[in-house]
Formats: sequence, structure tokens, C-alpha cells
Amino acid sequence: MDRAKRSFRRRTKPATNGRNWPHVVIVGGGFAGANAVLGLRKARVRVTLIDQNVYKTFQPLLYQVATAGLNPGDVTMFLRGLQLKVPNMRFRQGRVRAVDTEQQTVTLHDRQKISYDYLVLANGATVNFFNTPGAEEFAMPMYTRSQAIDIRDRIFAELERASQLSETGTNDKLHISVVGGGATGVEIAGALADFRQQELDVLYPEMDPGTLQITLIQRGKALIKDFNENLQEYAADELLKRKVELLLGRGVKSVGYDSLTLQDDTVIESDITIWAVGVGADDEINRWGVPRRDNGRIEVDDTLRVKGFRNIFAIGDVAAQDEALPMLAQPAMQSGKHVASLISAEVDGKPADAPFAYRDLGTMATIGRHAAITQLPFEKAPDLTGSVGWWAWMGVHVMNLLGARNRRAVSTNLISLYAGMGTTFSQPNPVIGEVDSNRARKEFAKHSSKRRFGFSAGKPFSYREGSRRERGELTADHPSHRANPEDGHGLA
Ligand SMILES: Cc1cc2nc3c(=O)[nH]c(=O)nc-3n(C[C@H](O)[C@H](O)[C@H](O)COP(=O)(O)OP(=O)(O)OC[C@H]3O[C@@H](n4cnc5c(N)ncnc54)[C@H](O)[C@@H]3O)c2cc1C
Repeated sequence: MDRAKRSFRRRTKPATNGRNWPHVVIVGGGFAGANAVLGLRKARVRVTLIDQNVYKTFQPLLYQVATAGLNPGDVTMFLRGLQLKVPNMRFRQGRVRAVDTEQQTVTLHDRQKISYDYLVLANGATVNFFNTPGAEEFAMPMYTRSQAIDIRDRIFAELERASQLSETGTNDKLHISVVGGGATGVEIAGALADFRQQELDVLYPEMDPGTLQITLIQRGKALIKDFNENLQEYAADELLKRKVELLLGRGVKSVGYDSLTLQDDTVIESDITIWAVGVGADDEINRWGVPRRDNGRIEVDDTLRVKGFRNIFAIGDVAAQDEALPMLAQPAMQSGKHVASLISAEVDGKPADAPFAYRDLGTMATIGRHAAITQLPFEKAPDLTGSVGWWAWMGVHVMNLLGARNRRAVSTNLISLYAGMGTTFSQPNPVIGEVDSNRARKEFAKHSSKRRFGFSAGKPFSYREGSRRERGELTADHPSHRANPEDGHGLA
């Protein structure tokens, strides 16, 4: 092979002497795990990254997937791609079920055991329904890419269903409730409101413009409580301007198919309930033999070693020091880099006990078009809002995405969605998936007796024309009278 060709050859194998290098097993390829992998690229170790998914998810932009602004692939990165930069890493898809700290092995879902010299637990957090009755069955969480896709597909299926009802002259409003007024709840409510304002009337002219109702419910009195008060007010004002109904100081007691019961026993209509509140560590960790705090997170010391173990680290959302850091991307990324530096130092025989020092780089959230907020951690630094805040938010999010294709796709899509002058003149083209309005109709009919609101609530209901005619719900000149039952209008 000539020299020019050799210089372009990609390194994908560890050095031949690497076979005897210590083995680092990293569980979870999220913000924390991926940064630990990247930090070990020059270390004299073999790295195995294990994740149940083959991709890493950029969760801060999941709400864009749920609201049809971005393609699911734009916010995920194939974890095997890391091998280009980290030739001493191998990827194994699998869900870790057990950890044996005596034998130094992890066991995967398929019972395969993988032994380690160093173990890094970076398996993140999961949704927490706080034992709210009905929440697991009826509310839609947004913690993973597939959950975000489910929300998007359900919204469009319900819009199609509502449009089919409106063709029959029945205006059954589509109520979407977002439970949780943190950054995620605010972002998804704002994105839905922008969609309603910019695109809905063009896409669904047959529907009454007021058909889509958006409500944000927050147990506390303030939205985004981790932000300064002026930013909390700004977010509330921007949502109100976008006609999002805010129910502040109202907790959710239970969730039904088309309703929410609040703590004060008020029942409100909610055809789609998005659960944007509550995360916690997975209960599965109980069986891993590592100490946990009251909130379920793994107990780590100030170097991020799991208490009681020299060679096991826990980083990101799953871990908490005595003073727990927020469950955010920056602490996760920085903790991944820190642990990589400790392992690299230790295998090189250097001191490896530096405490983790978190650098707060600020927090941000976007409410919608030209409206984002950025709170910087420096004294006297101004809070950024509006378009300036939006560009800062955009820059940071794009910078933190892994992969050049993702950066290009996200910046192009978000700039065309948000940076315009207010009214979209180009043809709206939301990123839709499989929209199964037939299934939505069946579910709507199936739950009729349990439904508390809307068309034919509490009564047995079928979409069949005949049954509607029998009940006298159709008039002679109604468009459905002309519909051919074979064309889908007649399906139950
Ligand atoms: C909707 C949403 C919006 C957010 N918005 C923001 C934001 O705007 N700004 C911000 O800073 N933070 C935000 N966050 C929080 C941020 O995403 C998390 O703090 C961050 O992802 C934590 O990183 P992590 O690596 O600890 O966990 P994760 O990124 O969750 O990664 C954990 C990985 O472990 C894998 N895994 C889990 N269990 C197992 C197992 N048993 N075996 C194998 N693999 C496993 C998972 O598949 C996943 O890939 C948001 C979170 C959500 C859900």
C-alpha cells in the first residue's frame, strides 16, 4: 500500500499490544457515557460501550420530534460511529440486567457476561409517573426517541380523526394537555402553539381554527422554577400570547382516556396527555449491588467513584454526590470527561483522585419562534430573551450535537422553522410518520363509554353512517351522506 493511501486508512483496531490493556466497560451511551468514551480515545485501555439502543439520543430536542419539527434521525447518532475517533472502543448492543461486583462482570439481557477492570455506570434516568392513577396507561411520556415519535404520530392521527368528525358537522375539540411546567413542558407547549398558529389552518382548513386546544398544567405556582423570576414571567407571557392555557398551582390526581382530574377534583378534557414531569433512576439498579440515595440515584464520592468501590464510577443522571447536580446535559458531559481522565491517569500510574468540579455554563429553553431564554451563570451577565436568546439556544444545541450530519440537518430545519418573519409562505411540511387515523377512530369509538367529553361521550358510539343516521345525527345535505361507505368513512 503506498504512503498516500496508508495515511487515509482509518484506525479502527486497537494496537496489537492492546489485548492486555485494562478493560473499561461503559453502560449507557448518552451524554455521560459518550463523553467518557471520547475521553478514553488515547488511553491505554480497551473500551466496551454497552447500550440497549444502537444510537445516542439528544434529548433536549426530542420535543421537536414530538411536534414534527425535526426528523427522529436528526437527534440521534449511531454509537458505532464513535469508533472512528476512538479506535480502542467496541460497541455491544444490550440491556444490562445485573452487575456482579465480586466477579467484576455485567450480565446482559441475553445472559452474556462481560468482565471488566473498570466499570462506568452511565445509564441515565427514566420516566416517573409518581404512582398517579391512569398515568402509565393514558399519559404519553417523552423520554426516548420512540416515545417522541409516538406522541407525534398520535397528534396527527387525532387531528385526522377530528377533521373526519368535523366533516360530519361535529366539532369535537382536540385537547392536548402537557403535565409539567419545567423546560420540557414549556418547550413542547410552545412548539404546539406555534404549529397551531403557523400551519394548522393551512393543513386542516376543514377544521374550526379553535379545534386544537393546548393546556399546560404545573403543580407549582411558577413555570421553569430553576430560572430567574423575570425569565419565568417571560415564558408565561410568551405562552399566553400563543393562547396556551396555563393552569398553575394545580396538581394532577389521575389521568383518564380523555380527561385529567386535578387535585381539587376539577375534571378537564384531555384527549392527549403529554407527561413532561418527573424523572427518576430505574428500579433495576436495585439489583446491581451499588449504594443508592433516597431519590434512587447511585451514591458517588467527589471523584465520581461509587461509594465503596475503587474501580466503579457512576456519571450523569444516574449518579448523585452529597450535593447532587441537576439532571442536565452539561453535568453529564463533564462528568464523563472527568471519569475518563481519572481512568487514563490511573492506568498510566499517575494520581487519579482529583475531585469532579462542575462548571455551570448556564441554562436555556425555547418557548417558540423568536422566543428563547438563556440564563448565564456569571454575575452581572444579562439574561437573554427573544431572538437573541433563541440564537444563543440554537448555537449551543447545535454545538453539542454529535455528528456533522446532525448539526447540518438540525440547523437547516430549525432555522427554516423558527427564524422566519412570522408567517410561513412556503408550503408547510411537518415531519410526519405513520398516521393511523383509522386506529384513532377505533380507539375513540372503543372508549366511548369511558369518555367524559366530546361527541357521544359516555354512550356506545360507532362511526358507521347507519348508526348515526338512526340516531338522527346526520342531515340530508350533510357531506357524509354522499360518502361511499367503502372509502373509509364507514369504518367503525
Ligand atoms: C425531553 C427532555 C428534554 C431535556 N432537555 C434538556 C435541556 O434542554 N438541557 C439540558 O441540559 N438537559 C436536558 N435534558 C436532560 C438531559 O437530556 C439529561 O440530563 C442527559 O441526557 C443525561 O445524560 P446521561 O448520559 O446521564 O443519560 P442519557 O442521556 O439518558 O443516556 C443513558 C443511556 O443509557 C442507556 N441505558 C439505560 N439503561 C440501560 C441498561 N440497563 N443497559 C444498557 N443501556 C442502558 C440508554 O439507552 C441511554 O442511551 C432533557 C431531558 C429530556 C428527557
